[in-house]
Amino acid sequence: MAPVIYPTTNFTATEQLCLERGEGIYVFDSDGRKYIEGLAGLWCTSLGYSNTEVVDAITEQLHKLPFSHTFGGKTHQPIQDLATKLSAMVPIENAYIFFGNSGSDANDTHYKMLRYYFNAIGKPEKRKIITRERGYHGVTVAAGSLTSLPANLAHFDAPLEALSILRADSPHYYTARQGNETEAQFVERILQNLEDQIIAEDPDTIAAMIVEPITGASGVIVPPEGYYEGLQALLRKHGILVWADEVICGFGRTGADFGCTTMGIKPDLMTLAKQLSSAYFPISASVIPGWMYDAMVDQTNEVGVFGHGYTYSGHPAACAAALKTLEIYERDNLFEHAANVGAYMQAQLRDIFTDHPLVGEVRGKGLIAALELVSNKTTGASFDKGLAGATAQKLCQDNGLILRAVAGNAVALCPPLIITKEEVDEMLSRLKTAIDASFEQLQM
Ligand code: PLP
Repeated sequence: MAPVIYPTTNFTATEQLCLERGEGIYVFDSDGRKYIEGLAGLWCTSLGYSNTEVVDAITEQLHKLPFSHTFGGKTHQPIQDLATKLSAMVPIENAYIFFGNSGSDANDTHYKMLRYYFNAIGKPEKRKIITRERGYHGVTVAAGSLTSLPANLAHFDAPLEALSILRADSPHYYTARQGNETEAQFVERILQNLEDQIIAEDPDTIAAMIVEPITGASGVIVPPEGYYEGLQALLRKHGILVWADEVICGFGRTGADFGCTTMGIKPDLMTLAKQLSSAYFPISASVIPGWMYDAMVDQTNEVGVFGHGYTYSGHPAACAAALKTLEIYERDNLFEHAANVGAYMQAQLRDIFTDHPLVGEVRGKGLIAALELVSNKTTGASFDKGLAGATAQKLCQDNGLILRAVAGNAVALCPPLIITKEEVDEMLSRLKTAIDASFEQLQM
């Protein structure tokens, strides 16, 4: 084995799939086997695997100016063009943007910008951040602490005490409901819990709450009707900012431009990555409103330099990749295409799987979905140790479909946005074969 330390590993050797090339929504392994990339890589390859326009834009930029940093009075055209373009796209007024390299570092940047901003306006006590159970926000120190998945916290002393992180209930009705509780009662209960928590902590010590509009990596959770309306009213009432982590939902994934649009969220801050460049080059963006930026640059506040930035912040080739990606989204009406094909995929998924004995719930919006695999359809009981998720993931792969088991026993779908209805049919037919085979295997 090559001396690689792989992400999220328990250091036991596992079978590995070695991919070699890609074309459209398909990838091919080193033995030439063809797979549908049903998770768009890691929720990111929106334009699929053979977009020569993006490759050409990156190559052209690499030939022209392969690197320029943006510290101490330096800039370059691609970063300026990208910031202007993004600022006009996002649902945040007079938006300013800090560029990074990953969703994790963009969330760390936001964490620091919030600290800096509240110090600048003389409210240093406003430092706590609310996150949610089952939220995923990355793995760097602040982002990892905001993440609620046990493996991302264990062994790292996370969350660090100094980061002042509070955890709210996940809006996952399917598994978190109690008894005969209706969706409306569930929403009321978890929002009341949150308000109690906010009051107990003192709202003046809480800066923001981070939410994925639709939670991705921990199970594709679509909050019930009324949740975000109530949540935002509560946060506004207590002077707490709304921080939307759009790393998965952003750019057409959920049937609209942003997950915030789909779910009716008016964010103060936004984190973007992944589909920003269709993963052809690493880039992320931490977006803040103009009023926050103005306070941060106000020289009378005497907080000193904002000492934060990466060598590769706004790398010219990354900006070129993102600019071309955004141009293609717009020119080819890809968000509209994804909304149409997404509605089709959701309907087909429900048609095929709602009555399947292994499937407890079909959920999702647009081109992101999950099947919750259960050992008892009536009670919703789960399999131990993610057995069903792992089985289904393996059998999908054997059947030419790459998907991902998430949150134990759910399998997530998140194909490239360019997928057609015919390709959705092909993907779901492979999925059905694999889910039937999983059911048989799990009965034995
Ligand atoms: N935020 C969300 C919602 C994510 O899904 C992810 C990654 O999947 C991240 C942040 C972290 O992004 P990255 O892996 O690029 O650091």
